[in-house]
Amino acid sequence: MKEQHLTAEDISYRDIFHKGTELEYRAAVTAAAERVSSFLNNTEKPFSGIKPAALLAQFNEVDFDTPLPDYESLLEEVDTLYIKHATAFHLPQYIAHLNCPVVIPALAAEVIISAINSSQDTYDQSAGGTFMERKLIDWTAEQIGYGKSSDGVFTAGGSQSNMMGLLLARDYYALEFMQHNIKLDGNPAAASKFRVFVSEKAHFSNQKNASLMGLGEQSIVMVKTDSRFRMDTVALETAILREKELGNIPVAIVATAGTTDFGNVDPLKEIGRIAQQYQLWFHVDAAYGCGLLLSDKYKYLLDGIALSDSVTVDYHKSFFQPISSSAFIVKNKLHLNLIKHHADYLNPKEQDYDELPAQINKSVTQSTRRFDALKLWFTLRLMGKQQLGAYTDTIIETAEKAACMIEEDGEFDLLSHSDLGVLVFRYKSACAVNQHIKRKLFFSGEILLASTKVNGEYYLKFTILNPLTTIDDIQQMLKVIKECGKEHVILTRANQLQEQ
Ligand SMILES: *Cc1c(COP(=O)(O)O)cnc(C)c1O
Repeated sequence: MKEQHLTAEDISYRDIFHKGTELEYRAAVTAAAERVSSFLNNTEKPFSGIKPAALLAQFNEVDFDTPLPDYESLLEEVDTLYIKHATAFHLPQYIAHLNCPVVIPALAAEVIISAINSSQDTYDQSAGGTFMERKLIDWTAEQIGYGKSSDGVFTAGGSQSNMMGLLLARDYYALEFMQHNIKLDGNPAAASKFRVFVSEKAHFSNQKNASLMGLGEQSIVMVKTDSRFRMDTVALETAILREKELGNIPVAIVATAGTTDFGNVDPLKEIGRIAQQYQLWFHVDAAYGCGLLLSDKYKYLLDGIALSDSVTVDYHKSFFQPISSSAFIVKNKLHLNLIKHHADYLNPKEQDYDELPAQINKSVTQSTRRFDALKLWFTLRLMGKQQLGAYTDTIIETAEKAACMIEEDGEFDLLSHSDLGVLVFRYKSACAVNQHIKRKLFFSGEILLASTKVNGEYYLKFTILNPLTTIDDIQQMLKVIKECGKEHVILTRANQLQEQ
């Protein structure tokens, strides 16, 4: 590799964002935006279908020690290596995971976020950004039904927000009931007996978070679900009593408002009552279901959410926001003091935080932090909650029609209707046939489906998050899935006959 040392005259400052490079800045951003336009114009399928090995082979040419001459060549390269094969979440035929189409106001905000590059940890790095974030947190808390003493913080995602919930639950329990300060002294010996109750369909981040917090995955008790895969509250109470009998220490319940696999909301009211009765922290993981906060028509599905102590919301799941955009909201802001740490150079102990606020006091795993809140600000101020709520209603109604369509079709099995828009079903045939369908459609790029296992059996999964997806789109996709399944069954049989 040749060593290249630039002499003082060779060094160019045209790439630094500053007053002298306004023209370079505009040209670069325009060129990038043009690539996005052609992505929109030229993408007919949700995926090109390229195999990983073929894509990886194209990376051999890239040599970081030989920079490209201009944006045109750079964008060509990025087009080849990335954009051409990027998954197109905006197409109805992308129906796999919880990736929503994004709204344009949020994209405009991204331009400002990255260029001005505020950091949300302290007022001196963000100024108005701090207050915008706070106002959006307050707004979200109000939608949840929390009172004036609530607070929260934007996070990188639902997994991180869930961790904050679990962390506060653990530290609160130890301080309140054991006079033990975990922040200072670490987990008490009895922490190995701490138990957190989640449903069998809760998100796996609960397990990961418990293990990160030194409680181990063993601390997570999975409660049975009902016929719609929602937490069974009788089983919950039984589980709490059983753990107590075993000498373990229940500390929290995590309810899921919108499960990743079924899009159904746990019975929040009843769980809230049980949490109160047993003095347990009640966290609601509404990473997915937070979209219901936008809908006057379907908000009732979240009845009881205000009984909780804390909530996870993922705006990047259900508020049509680009990744990342998420928040952790807590009912009683004093609980955030459990995690506060003072650094002399950032947020010294003696500072008056009413006078000079610092969001870092509320953040656990991020110091420097993106101003993601501006995207939601742009979105809400321009579109209003009503517009977003109408999208949510449309999605829910399309999903319900789709559920009926699958249910009435003799060639499919549907496992459950959905409060939100996830449908788990299969072509009535062996698991292998359904596996084939998913793989074949993925590598043809035609339809991107998800899959999951229920009771050890393989199922296909639709996640409907796009208000532009019509019932005709769904019908068309079901037709393709069926044809794909049929073809595979016939081919397999023909092969078997040949072998005999
Ligand atoms: C997606 C999801 C999460 C995790 O959120 P990320 O933003 O992906 O970290 C947590 N809980 C539920 C129910 C989810 O669907």
